Amino acid sequence: MDLTGTIDQAAEYADSARKSMAEREIPATPANFTVWYAYHSGQVPELARALEVLISNKVEFTLERNQEIYDKYFGFDGEGREIRETSARVQAAVTEVLEQLGEAGRDQSAYGDKLAGFSGKLAEVPNSEHIADLVRGILSETRQIVEKSEALENRLGQSSQQIGELRQHLEEVRREAMTDSLTGIANRKYFDATLRAAAADVMESGGDLCLLLIDIDHFKKFNDTYGHLIGDEVLRVVARKLTEGVKGRDTPARFGGEEFVVILPQTDLRDACTVAEQIRKSLASRKVQNKKTAKSYGTVTVSIGVAKFQLGEPLDALVQRADQALYCAKGQGRNRVVAETVLDSLIEVAE
Ligand code: GH3
Ligand code: MG
Ligand code: MG
Repeated sequence: MDLTGTIDQAAEYADSARKSMAEREIPATPANFTVWYAYHSGQVPELARALEVLISNKVEFTLERNQEIYDKYFGFDGEGREIRETSARVQAAVTEVLEQLGEAGRDQSAYGDKLAGFSGKLAEVPNSEHIADLVRGILSETRQIVEKSEALENRLGQSSQQIGELRQHLEEVRREAMTDSLTGIANRKYFDATLRAAAADVMESGGDLCLLLIDIDHFKKFNDTYGHLIGDEVLRVVARKLTEGVKGRDTPARFGGEEFVVILPQTDLRDACTVAEQIRKSLASRKVQNKKTAKSYGTVTVSIGVAKFQLGEPLDALVQRADQALYCAKGQGRNRVVAETVLDSLIEVAE
């Protein structure tokens, strides 16, 4: 939240926020304070509108509602909330297992005490009638402990299955959070994390790291001609070609809109250009076609900029050089690959 503005003004908003919360019996937690400060400062118009509707409908600000409002405008996004909730459920399941184990331990030790009591009495008993009674007692206690152990085993089995399912769910949420929903390949978030890790690897172990920045040519025109849905199909085709065109250690990802990237670890600039050229050719050499109707949409071409990571440079700089090379490829007529080395020669020419 932007907290610029005068100190007096901020104090005024804070005061109004406190009053608003008190009036509605809303606990003055940092999260609620954030919501009501934003309301009075008007910095988040959608929030202000939403709160006004709630207030005019005389809706009660329950703990859940306050949390929902905070989450929606300031807090976790859907995926974050899923992870938080699943973690809480895993934790609850583990706590339950621990409680069950503690209970079982107490039962076992009570059983031990009872057996010790029986054996003490056994030493004192004068006749066989009493011995029979004691044995019956021991048998009944033993039966009970066996039943309890079986019940515990069942409950532990259920809990462990539940934990397994929750872990799988967490894994799915994590994977989804890293995947671009339209094309099914890695998204920008995954790309950022992977590029950071790949750059750290190069700093530690040496080697080359290259980046391809790929942009579909005249895609706006394609959309205008055939519609966005067919355009979306083309994005999927390009994503598939990228996946097919690289090795397992390489990471293709959707950078945004109609732009894609490929991270190429352990690859020098020349090899990176070869990979880029193969990708370019594989798209340019075939027409995009509707499989069912056989309708052809012509060829879809891409322009590709290639850059190599320089030790220690900010990753933005690497992306920017790939972008400049891409820009150059567009300028040279599109449907081509340009490496960053060309940029140097262009600068020389300009001088
Ligand atoms: P250039 O060759 O210079 O790259 O031209 P261009 O038309 O591809 O570039 P421009 O940046 O003018 O337009 C990009 C277009 O990409 C505009 C937008 O409609 C389209 N686009 C971006 N994201 C999507 C998407 O998710 N689906 C579809 N169908 N189109 C998209
Ligand atoms: Mg573009
Ligand atoms: Mg484009």
